Amino acid sequence: KITSSQQAIALEDKYGAHNYHPLPVVLSKGEGVFLWDVEGKKYFDFLSAYSAVNQGHCHPRIKDALIEQAGTLTLTSRAFHNDVLGPFEKYITEYFGFDKVLPMNTGAEGVETAIKIARKWGYEKKGIAENQATIIVADNNFHGRTTTVISFSNDENARKNFGPYTAGFVKVPYNDVDALKSIMAENKNVVAFLVEPIQGEAGVYTPDDTYIKEVAAVCKENNVLFIADEIQTGIARTGSLLAVCGNCSCEGHCEKQETYIQPDMLILGKAISGGFFPVSAVLANDEIMGVIKPGQHGSTFGGNPLGAKVAMAALDVVKDEKLAQNARKLGNIFRERMQKLVDKYNIVKLVRGKGLLNAVVINDSEDSSTAWDICVALKDNGLLAKPTHGNIIRFAPPLVITEEQLHECCDIIERTIEGF
Ligand code: PLP
Repeated sequence: KITSSQQAIALEDKYGAHNYHPLPVVLSKGEGVFLWDVEGKKYFDFLSAYSAVNQGHCHPRIKDALIEQAGTLTLTSRAFHNDVLGPFEKYITEYFGFDKVLPMNTGAEGVETAIKIARKWGYEKKGIAENQATIIVADNNFHGRTTTVISFSNDENARKNFGPYTAGFVKVPYNDVDALKSIMAENKNVVAFLVEPIQGEAGVYTPDDTYIKEVAAVCKENNVLFIADEIQTGIARTGSLLAVCGNCSCEGHCEKQETYIQPDMLILGKAISGGFFPVSAVLANDEIMGVIKPGQHGSTFGGNPLGAKVAMAALDVVKDEKLAQNARKLGNIFRERMQKLVDKYNIVKLVRGKGLLNAVVINDSEDSSTAWDICVALKDNGLLAKPTHGNIIRFAPPLVITEEQLHECCDIIERTIEGF
């Protein structure tokens, strides 16, 4: 049994692959916005497992769904039907307004699934010549860690010595519609544009308000599929159910024409199951999803009854607890408070983000350790956040956080920054 943080870290160091560089804190309990370490110290969570626990840690409704289903039926594989998959598929397609869903497990698998569907659609519906399909992606994208997905990453650390890479991808600058148009004009083999509506891992880059709308229009004009990767931005994180909902503040899918931009494919993961169980999903309409026939794609665990039940409970919570509205309101307060730090302290360069997906950029170079040192100090002061790209700190608490708690957290951040 682990009795100290030091002991747990030593075990990981000795027996685990060193593929992460965690903050030196060992967590043993979570509830709502709080986490506790092995020594019993309590923290506010400002990462939410990279936006997978939007509903808060160990949400009782999701826990009950998991426990009940765990004692009934957990996995059948798709060799047989099960009595939860159909209801889940109806639930999630109605929830997000698509004809069909293809359930997988991790986010990267969802992305791989969308890529395969887009390519197949290109050959079978658009008439692209064999093996010529091209998918456009954005510079500085993050879509996961598989061999194909890292093939079109800009991050040398994620790519180097993992080649040979998968062909068929071209990059355009993010938030640049003209670049997108010119590639589509040049290359008639383009089948899809895969993009994050806000680039999370890159450092919470929010594009112009018109970007996604224009992207969707350019894709449509060129008979190219617009694929939105909302694995991090979706499920109320940015103050609406999806980032592609624009500024719509309703709790569910509403198809308000003036704000909602329906992607041809929507990829979801992370908070779709509230952090309990890996569930991802690709949603699309019949003319696109119809290209996949039996035996052409799948996963042993994809669509399992346990994940399906958990996901339904997790999505119920998002709606019933009005998490999008809370994220929207508290996000505005958070950025206002952080802007005061930008104005007051030289070390804080800027704040950006939407809803409760925000980043504070530290006035230092990317290879400095200042942001890391600030995160270590934040931890000592009872708040957990993690730098991304050296000088950027992402702040993304569970969406169940209250206004009072948020102010308390802003006070902690201010007190910590004062010491630098
Ligand atoms: N796509 C986006 C936008 C992400 O933020 C992530 C994870 O951070 C992924 C894909 C990959 O998800 P997973 O780690 O579950 O494979």
